[in-house]
Amino acid sequence: MSEPLVVIGNGMAAARFVDELTRRALGRYAVAVVGEEPLLAYNRVLLSAVLAQEVSRAEIELKSARWWRERGVTLLYGHAAVAVDPHIRRVRLANGATLPYANLVLATGSRPLRLSVPGMDLPGVVTFRDLADVGAIEQSTARGTRAVVIGGGLLGLEAAYGLARAGARVSVVHLMDRLMERQLDPRAAAMLARAIAAKGIAVHLQAATAAIRGTRRVEAVELADRRLLEADLVVVAVGIRPHVDLARTAGLEINRGIVVDDRLQASIAGIHAIGECAEHRGVCYGLVEPAHEQARVLAQRLAGEAATYAGSVLATNLKVSGVNVFSAGDFLGAPGTETIVLSDPGLDTYKKLVIANGRLVGAVLYGDTEDGLWYLDLIRSGVSIESIRGELAFGRTLAERIAA
Ligand SMILES: Cc1cc2nc3c(=O)[nH]c(=O)nc-3n(C[C@H](O)[C@H](O)[C@H](O)COP(=O)(O)OP(=O)(O)OC[C@H]3O[C@@H](n4cnc5c(N)ncnc54)[C@H](O)[C@@H]3O)c2cc1C
Repeated sequence: MSEPLVVIGNGMAAARFVDELTRRALGRYAVAVVGEEPLLAYNRVLLSAVLAQEVSRAEIELKSARWWRERGVTLLYGHAAVAVDPHIRRVRLANGATLPYANLVLATGSRPLRLSVPGMDLPGVVTFRDLADVGAIEQSTARGTRAVVIGGGLLGLEAAYGLARAGARVSVVHLMDRLMERQLDPRAAAMLARAIAAKGIAVHLQAATAAIRGTRRVEAVELADRRLLEADLVVVAVGIRPHVDLARTAGLEINRGIVVDDRLQASIAGIHAIGECAEHRGVCYGLVEPAHEQARVLAQRLAGEAATYAGSVLATNLKVSGVNVFSAGDFLGAPGTETIVLSDPGLDTYKKLVIANGRLVGAVLYGDTEDGLWYLDLIRSGVSIESIRGELAFGRTLAERIAA
């Protein structure tokens, strides 16, 4: 008989995990996926493109209903799991039903952070994490809507771009002194700020939000220096926190995320965690690539293969049309690293490559990002770049011609 395996969360990590598992061990497990969102799993990365009306909702569905059915998966979407009892190995759903498991996979993702300032609960203040948020943003947006996006990271900028495309008058408020400071060095961030401004989006740096003002709904964002930015809509995109409530009440070890080892095993036997809810070697990732890598390793293990997860090198692309930005690895350059910079202000391009011990360890590309994945491969593989160092900054075509 197939062993019962329950996955909690029907997001990107869960869908990839079921795909990887059923490729390797179809029929070995009776898989049930429990998901709070009332939809089939979708590509969350493309929510910005939905908001910018570049793709439809149907286009971002990861797998069809038929795909899930053909793999014999019991899909319980629109259902929240509310408790896990590891002693009797059962999951309880909000509707009172319980599911037995031999193996449990937690893939509960993250929640968007909210600010602890007055006015956060006013109508017209929304976050940007799921399709319901996109629906709420769309409903509040018309030509001329005054929108303030709090947060100048990847998500905030993508939200700002989508709103501007919909005809809103958009301002971005960012606490730090540069945009996307977790991915970009000051020079690339300054180029990005100019490109964002050229799209008609006002950028306020070093701007702390003191309060959100309004009586019946949002009317303005008040900054710490008392400036008031009038707003009909406020999108809060200030970060995420792993979704760990269920795991905590089940008695699992939690730090920031659900603590897992290199086998993606949590602190209680039979329970695993993958994706944004997991914390591996002290790191909680906020990107999809690590979630996919973890999903594959766990599927391999549950299919009886030897596999371990050793961590991921992060890479980011901003999805704003006409603004090409790529960043990977140690893009700032730790002490002891060397930096190669190639910059052409006339072409609006900038490239910074960080080298340590003859290996590429980080890259920031602005303008021309065509070689981003090649640089990422060099970083991930850790191969020596000494033989192509002179050509490295000029890109793959030249470097490979010289190496040949
Ligand atoms: C607008 C946007 C743009 C992004 N762009 C990029 C990008 O360009 N590149 C990139 O790498 N990453 C990007 N990301 C991040 C990427 O989407 C996530 O890293 C990825 O979705 C993580 O997958 P996950 O399965 O861990 O979490 P999720 O995809 O969030 O899935 C978790 C699911 O679990 C459900 N859940 C939680 N608790 C329960 C419960 N108790 N019971 C049942 N279900 C539950 C949630 O409702 C959710 O559906 C973006 C994210 C957003 C929001």
